[in-house]
Amino acid sequence: MDNAQLNAFLQNPETHFPDFSITRGFDSEKCDLALNLDNPTSAMDEGEEESFADLMLCDSNSRLIPSGFSKSNCTDEIVMFINAGGEALNETDSSMKFLGDNYFEGGNVMQTNEPINEAGDCPFIYWSARIGSFSYRFNNLPPGDYFVDLHFAEIINTNGPKGMRVLSDFDIFSVVGANKPLQVVGLRVSVKEDGLIALRFEGVIGSPMVCGICVRKTQNIPVTQGSQEYLKCNNCAAEIEVSSAQMKLVRTKVTDKYEKKIQELTTQCQLKTHECHEAWMSLTAANEQLEKVRMELDNKIFLTRTLDDTVGKQAENLKNITSSYEHYKKYWAAAVNNLQEKIKIMKNEHAQLSHEAHACAESIPELNKMVIGVQALGNIRVFCRCRPLSKEEISTGSAQVVDFDAAKDGDIGILTGASTKKTFKFDRVYTPKDNQVDVFADALPLVTSVFDGYNVCIFAYGQTGTGKTFTMEGTDQNRGVNYRTLEQLFLIAKERSETFMYNISVSVLEVYNEQIRDLLSTSPTSKRLEIKQSAEGFHHVPGIVEAQVENIKEVWNVLQIGSNSRAVGSNNVNEHSSRSHCMLCIMVKSKNLMTGECTNSKLWLVDLAGSERLAKTDAQGERLKEAQNINKSLSALGDVVYALATKSSHIPY
Ligand code: ADP
Ligand code: MG
Repeated sequence: MDNAQLNAFLQNPETHFPDFSITRGFDSEKCDLALNLDNPTSAMDEGEEESFADLMLCDSNSRLIPSGFSKSNCTDEIVMFINAGGEALNETDSSMKFLGDNYFEGGNVMQTNEPINEAGDCPFIYWSARIGSFSYRFNNLPPGDYFVDLHFAEIINTNGPKGMRVLSDFDIFSVVGANKPLQVVGLRVSVKEDGLIALRFEGVIGSPMVCGICVRKTQNIPVTQGSQEYLKCNNCAAEIEVSSAQMKLVRTKVTDKYEKKIQELTTQCQLKTHECHEAWMSLTAANEQLEKVRMELDNKIFLTRTLDDTVGKQAENLKNITSSYEHYKKYWAAAVNNLQEKIKIMKNEHAQLSHEAHACAESIPELNKMVIGVQALGNIRVFCRCRPLSKEEISTGSAQVVDFDAAKDGDIGILTGASTKKTFKFDRVYTPKDNQVDVFADALPLVTSVFDGYNVCIFAYGQTGTGKTFTMEGTDQNRGVNYRTLEQLFLIAKERSETFMYNISVSVLEVYNEQIRDLLSTSPTSKRLEIKQSAEGFHHVPGIVEAQVENIKEVWNVLQIGSNSRAVGSNNVNEHSSRSHCMLCIMVKSKNLMTGECTNSKLWLVDLAGSERLAKTDAQGERLKEAQNINKSLSALGDVVYALATKSSHIPY
């Protein structure tokens, strides 16, 4: 610490550090000793005193002496000499008087018997010391300037490694283990009116240790203000008087030299700083580059890993795809085979269907002829019924070719092409929405007219599968015309029972291959049944069973018997039924109980064979014969109806 630093330090009274600190080795550890030389010149209290910096420390005359106290060196009058940590002593051979340790406050005593090297004239001072944080106060001193000397010793219990030990910021050092005293002498203190000198020793890190304190009265303070100055000769130690002008020159030269040196060093420092800066910059750049490269490398590594992952995943995917491809290949190959098989079947079906369609188209003119003929008859009604598409038809994608737009007016349109339509006229058209009840509602007046003595005949005509049997017979849940007719007849008979007596009997027969079969006959007769014309002009079949029925329950039984007999001798009932005409004949005899008038009339309910034509090439053997007979019978029927309609003189019954 130089004076400038010290001044700066003193200008800041807030600072914690004392104005003087000595650092010295102690017990191989570094201890800090703070010495506070207070000079309480005014009536300040304790607290203020402590923060008051001692200007004595600025005294450049204070110096270090690396040996013990020597009487010869001390020319000043000794005011008091304190043997710190020890007792009062009077030197017998001199007037030197050492005071006991009575002025302290705080700290502890430490004593040693170790020999002290270069202990000077009074080695015993160094055998004892005050240690710790403590202070000394010396009162009642006459005002004036004093010097204070502090005596320390590096004694044996400082167990550090041998060598130099730095004791303070002031380049104070001692040799460890040398057991040598150390003096800080000439600390200048100015005592004011209060006559007080206060010293404060304060440990900063460790404990201060002081062996003696000497207060001297100044006598010859060197005068430095004069115009004359002295230089000491290095050889003879003679003091040479130098004028202030000479001194100034010397100083200027020295200053110049040092300024030059400072200039040089500054330049060098700048150069080095610049170099350092350059080096630092290039290092920074290199670091940046390195960082960049490292980042790139990291990225590359990451990318490589990602790629590895992706490749792995893709390989896995490819494997999966390959295996699923194999699987689907097999699956599709089987499906293709299956489809080819189906196509083959469908082609065959298509060929068959086109034949049938062809035949159907051919039959249209005939139907038309019949319709026209029948319509010409006043008491004949012609109804047309279209059944709904079956589930199979819907599932195979079939669509209606019938246009019901004008169904209410009895018109039905058959779509023969994309835009062409052929229209037929009927007494009534039943759409797929109309049910058995709707159909029977129109048949009702016809069938009941049999009670009034009329002969009535209802045919169901159409291709196989168009709903003839459904319409005539129906099902258990959906009774057809046959059942409903008889049911109604019994109802009316009951209603009219007071005025009329009715006798109802039924026959059920089948015409197959021009042969008549009595379906109610219990024993199959070998006798061929034939239609005969009676003298009265009636047509009848001699030998046929006419079952008398009293109520609807009996009718049902009879119808069941007929239906069962039909099945006998045929492998496939439906197929057989479609190739035969089934006829239910209801014979009604009535007697008016009032007038005694009798009527005898018949009601025929006929389920004709399928009107479809089989392509000549397709039908062979039995089938061909069947087809020929069906066609013959149907066209015969057509001829009869036509003859009736045109009121021909001959009716080809
Ligand atoms: P056909 O006697 O003319 O050969 P079917 O009466 O046997 O024809 O009818 C063929 C199929 O169509 C049968 O299964 C029948 O139940 C059904 N069917 C016919 N007409 C209808 C209808 N109006 N409503 C519901 N199903 C019907
Ligand atoms: Mg049928």
